[in-house]
Amino acid sequence: VNGSPEDPRVRARSAFRGAFGSEPRWGAAAPGRVNLIGEHTDYNDGFVLPMAIDRVCVAVGGPAADPHESRILAVDLGETVSIDLSRPLEVGPGAGQIEQGSWPAYIAGVAARFQRLLGGSLANLDIAVASSVPVGGGLSSSAAIEVATSTLLEQATGITLEPKAKALLCQRAEHEFAGVPCGIMDQFVSVMGREGHALLIDCRSQVVEHIPMPRPEHIVVLILNSNVRHSLAAGEYAKRKAECQAAVRALGIASLRDADEAVVVQARAHLSDVEFRRARHVVSENARTVAAAVALRGGDLAGLGRLMIESHRSLRDDYEVSCAELDTLVELAEGTEGVFGARMTGGGFGGCVVALVSAPRAGRIAEEVGRGYRARHGRDLTATQANASAGAAAVAC
Ligand code: ADP
Ligand code: MG
Repeated sequence: VNGSPEDPRVRARSAFRGAFGSEPRWGAAAPGRVNLIGEHTDYNDGFVLPMAIDRVCVAVGGPAADPHESRILAVDLGETVSIDLSRPLEVGPGAGQIEQGSWPAYIAGVAARFQRLLGGSLANLDIAVASSVPVGGGLSSSAAIEVATSTLLEQATGITLEPKAKALLCQRAEHEFAGVPCGIMDQFVSVMGREGHALLIDCRSQVVEHIPMPRPEHIVVLILNSNVRHSLAAGEYAKRKAECQAAVRALGIASLRDADEAVVVQARAHLSDVEFRRARHVVSENARTVAAAVALRGGDLAGLGRLMIESHRSLRDDYEVSCAELDTLVELAEGTEGVFGARMTGGGFGGCVVALVSAPRAGRIAEEVGRGYRARHGRDLTATQANASAGAAAVAC
């Protein structure tokens, strides 16, 4: 199990000083997340069960040296951009516009919402961001950077957002400026995470229930990063959404949330094979997620582990978003002593596997699975022990 990389709070602050020659006045940290179960259910009005992790994006800032531009430094990339936040921000290819999906878009998208709240303009500020959430690894570095930005701008503007409004503002930034049609899970967890708890989120009602995690002396969550990222992820995500919508139309319901496995099986003749399997994944995953929350609450870790394994099989066979590397990691974890359950987590096609393991065995498990993974795929695994953590907060500067 690898140690945490250098504290992003320290890196953000010292990079700010180095780049801008002053001390930051405000600071904010927002966590990434790992989803224990409930995959590809959020955009289907379903249930998810994630927890915030002790990996954070930190944004620090101060009033801009030049009132006509904000300098924004991405410490991890060693890149600085200048954007004028006093003028309405727009995405697009034109001069003065923000390129959709570029890293500054994640920050500008949030700033644009604050501009709206303030009647179109925001006082410029210099910002440095540094993150310990691995980028593009399925642990939601994107929500972390959005929520950190929002938490920073709340301090700079004096606007206080309710948790739900804040998460929805960040989701909107991701839709509009990043161009990613994500659900609400990532931003909800990054805002509403609680130390020692997972969150059961009903993505239809947007109600969040905090559920205590087992004591970390006994059971820990291990994140196994495959260190692969297959390029089909974005295109396949849009395809799955469309396939779910097609199934919804064929079933004559408002969303897959309104069906269960019996309904889907009964309507099989009205669905194409692909639509049938996509729908079966979503409705069975919703049932598993609700059952997993019950198991977690009742301390039934064996039961929770079994649900995780079933979730992986469903994602692999019915939803078809896994890949050989993730399948190998789950298979190796399943065969290792001290593992209750494991499954791919995040959108799929690479990224991470989440495993629920016996704490005293965690180091050995990471080693054993890592050895098998290297033998089978010639790659190194990055294993991280994740602790259920608090949501976004201001940090002292
Ligand atoms: P993830 O699974 O990590 O959320 P995404 O593709 O959704 O992956 O988001 C990753 C994108 O978010 C990056 O390509 C970058 O544009 C932005 N981002 C995340 N963290 C940082 C960071 N520390 N610095 C700059 N940009 C970041
Ligand atoms: Mg993301």
